Amino acid sequence: MMAQFFWSSCVGGRGRHWTKWRNLCLPETEGGLGFRLLEDLSLALFSKLWWNFQTKPSIWKDYMRNKYCKHAHANVVMWKVGAGGSQVWKKMLQARDFIEHQILWQVKGGSASVWHDNWTGLGDLYTITGDNVEWYDTYTSVNELIKYEEWDLTVLEDIFPHELVEHILQHIRPPSHRGEIDTPCWMLDAKGAFSVKTTWQYIRHKDEDNRIYKWIWTKGVPFKMAFLMWRSWKFKIPVDDRVRRWGVQGPSKCWCCERPNQETLAHVFLKSYTANRTWSYFCSFTGINTAGLNLRKVIMLWWGPDIKKDMKPYYRVVPCFVTWELWRRRNKMKHEGKKTSLPRPEMLKELDAYRTKMNVTKVIWEFPLTGWVKYNTDGASRGNPGLSSYAFCLRDDKGDIMYAEGKMIETTTNTVAEAKAILEACKHCNQSNHTRIII
Ligand SMILES: [Zn+2]
Repeated sequence: MMAQFFWSSCVGGRGRHWTKWRNLCLPETEGGLGFRLLEDLSLALFSKLWWNFQTKPSIWKDYMRNKYCKHAHANVVMWKVGAGGSQVWKKMLQARDFIEHQILWQVKGGSASVWHDNWTGLGDLYTITGDNVEWYDTYTSVNELIKYEEWDLTVLEDIFPHELVEHILQHIRPPSHRGEIDTPCWMLDAKGAFSVKTTWQYIRHKDEDNRIYKWIWTKGVPFKMAFLMWRSWKFKIPVDDRVRRWGVQGPSKCWCCERPNQETLAHVFLKSYTANRTWSYFCSFTGINTAGLNLRKVIMLWWGPDIKKDMKPYYRVVPCFVTWELWRRRNKMKHEGKKTSLPRPEMLKELDAYRTKMNVTKVIWEFPLTGWVKYNTDGASRGNPGLSSYAFCLRDDKGDIMYAEGKMIETTTNTVAEAKAILEACKHCNQSNHTRIII
């Protein structure tokens, strides 16, 4: 449904789907458009249910366990086909198979299951160590593997392969907080906290990063232009020779020339008189020589490593811009019958506008040293002089906001507003008991 909407602007529309929805649901850097697959999102949400089921005591958890697990450990319960179980439980089990090994149990009292919970960081030992049936019933929870508050070496060597015993001795403290429940940690997060976001990142359909896509989606380029560039890069444009492959027959005739040629992607975007002249015009400013190259190669020259560093963002826009203008002209001539030429000097001016838009200096906020706090202040005036306001915020050495304030002030200039912001930050600072302060 969403794919239909995207390609034809209405649900139930019959616009051609140029690529699998699955491929559009990749981040831009991996060649997609940044949509999200519903099935990935749904799986991430059921993973959250699974996490809650496994890690948080609740009546719901007890109910589900009694109903679906009986005496078995939840990690090995199978979905019974045709047994008429709940769909929620079914989805939870699917999620389990994706993420259970990412739940690490930090040993406290040793309540984790020896065989099924991931308490070593290596996954479930039942699978890893193979058919260890002889020990399976003898030892259930991790706190049964100790003797006098230390790991019971004899037992460990009996039931695990030697390397695993080494690993345990080196990395895992024996259970010492008697009676305490082990702590669940989400391995995909540095602080061990579960989130749907990290889960989704982990399970989602992926493809390799490709720098080409980073260049196609250059900051500052309007979506429509970048999208066309993306489509021409992937040969997903309805020129005649493409349309033919879907079995649509008819004479091929381009719309860009006085004496029509066969319409191909290369013709429209590179070889036709207009296209050729347009590229030459832009290339003449840069010394790029495109003679004899195919479209992708020409585009790569503009994106490539030979461009001076400070001009790079600007040059990256050029192919998007040129293909966009060529395509627009072709469509005008085809659908509106208008004969138009490409006013190249005007194009250059328009392109120049992008340069100014994109000339943004990157400001990076630096963390204060440990134990220090940092105020950032700002003042602004609409009209200058005009309606003004100030704002400031206070952050600790981890970058977390501790305090923030913003107010309207009298009609004044932006310099006064900026100064006022600093003054108010100082006042706040004066009342606090911080001693190491950056403003
Ligand atoms: Zn032509």
